[in-house]
Amino acid sequence: MRDYLNFYIDGKFVAPLEPRTANVLNPATEEVSGRISLGGIADVDRAVAAARAAFPAWSQTSRETRIELLLAIQAEYERRKAEMADAIMEEMGAPSALAHGFHVYLGSGHLQTAIEVLREFKFEEQRGNTRILREPIGVCALITPWNWPMNQVAVKCFPALATGCTMVLKPPQLAPYSAQILAEIIDAAGVPAGVFNMIQGSGAVIGTALSTHPEVDMISFTGSEGVGVTIAQNAAPTVKRVCQELGGKSAFIVLDDASLAANVGIATSTMMGNSGQTCSAGSRLLVPHARMQDAIKAAREAAEAVTVGDPRGNFAMGPVVSKGQYNLIQEYIQKGLEEGAELIAGGPGRPEGLDKGYYVRPTVFVSSNDTVIAREEIFGPVLVMIGYHDIDDAVAIANDSLFGLAGYVSGEDISQVRAIGRRLRAGWIGLNGGFDFHAAFGGYKRSGNGREWGEFGFHEYIEIKSLLGYA
Ligand code: NAP
Ligand code: MG
Repeated sequence: MRDYLNFYIDGKFVAPLEPRTANVLNPATEEVSGRISLGGIADVDRAVAAARAAFPAWSQTSRETRIELLLAIQAEYERRKAEMADAIMEEMGAPSALAHGFHVYLGSGHLQTAIEVLREFKFEEQRGNTRILREPIGVCALITPWNWPMNQVAVKCFPALATGCTMVLKPPQLAPYSAQILAEIIDAAGVPAGVFNMIQGSGAVIGTALSTHPEVDMISFTGSEGVGVTIAQNAAPTVKRVCQELGGKSAFIVLDDASLAANVGIATSTMMGNSGQTCSAGSRLLVPHARMQDAIKAAREAAEAVTVGDPRGNFAMGPVVSKGQYNLIQEYIQKGLEEGAELIAGGPGRPEGLDKGYYVRPTVFVSSNDTVIAREEIFGPVLVMIGYHDIDDAVAIANDSLFGLAGYVSGEDISQVRAIGRRLRAGWIGLNGGFDFHAAFGGYKRSGNGREWGEFGFHEYIEIKSLLGYA
């Protein structure tokens, strides 16, 4: 049992002003795994005041000072990596290998990247007679989701620290443990009091208080479209910058060549990773109509090969995060059946032999692009396969979405793969499986307006000042 009842405010772990707790459930067992405190508006005021007070000094620290602190955080993060992974397993049900692998690695990757970017970042630049300064924007509110909990926190708080901002983090109630460990890491690394603050609690309470707070300059939000819109509305009267990283319904285009079956297999098993709870998941798999039977066979084999079970065991997929998420995914599977989509793997209910825990069957449908299951983000292990006639058709289907977060193209002809990548209206396009911590991550259209990762993530926390007649 984890008792994480204190917030981190002004360099200390402190109790909330009014004691109120909530249980956290382990999605694999449906049992209570620990407790957190739920903060109130007065706690937000306290944390924002601490961040405001710390800003003048922190914003003036040198690049070297901040690099040293990030290196100290890195050493501490390395030391506590295994604990961090166990926390992620417990809070959101990631399988052990994934939690100890990619989940924790994304955190250290963003930290290492922030250090690399900070070493080179141009805080000042001469353009003609003008001196351009890139200054920290001020007090930032960081509001994160549960699906890749450490990734989401790392990708915000390390660039914010690196650019000289101070911050208040509001982690998700469903996955609050990893953020609490990060607060301990930041504390142990000796980050000055007030620079980093963390409050647990409800988005409706803490998130709203942060979004409307006159002393908050900027909000970086990752989560659902609906909440992103609410935050922007709440932030408008005080003219805050609001960076939104929202949902997706990204297309994975597989080209018609000898690698089709292999590429369909990779696309299917990748999509099921993290139980399909990835905003950038290639949840629409586009395959040539002419090869549909080959594609169905490959997707079915890949989906059926995804083992599902206890995160502590050796399974590819654990549960989804919560009962609410489980029910939502079941509704979508039901909807797919009602819409007449062809079910080729998985389906309703839990996988055989699992009668406890929020486990979902790796599910694949074949449908057209105009069904609800092809248009709405399901955020679970449900893949929709769609046929295309030719490349123009594939591109049109891929772009026929309200979202535009990611896209994927796999095929043997790299020049064709590249050309299709250029035509996709989305921010993050994987060509034959590329990955890069320095590449910008973020969405077109309703997938948001922000760009995180690498140097691009720094700019979210920067105000630009022009000193005219400087030279
Ligand atoms: P969510 O419901 O939008 O919650 C995200 C965060 O916002 C949580 O910390 C939540 O607090 C908080 N929140 C809720 N209501 C709020 C309000 N009125 N004001 C301010 N904050 C509020 O999203 P989710 O269900 O956790 O995550 C799934 C969604 O995130 C999916 O749509 C997915 O695509 C998206 N996502 C996007 C990216 C990306 O980078 N583009 C990455 C990951 C996930 P609680 O703790 O109370 O819920
Ligand atoms: Mg939610």
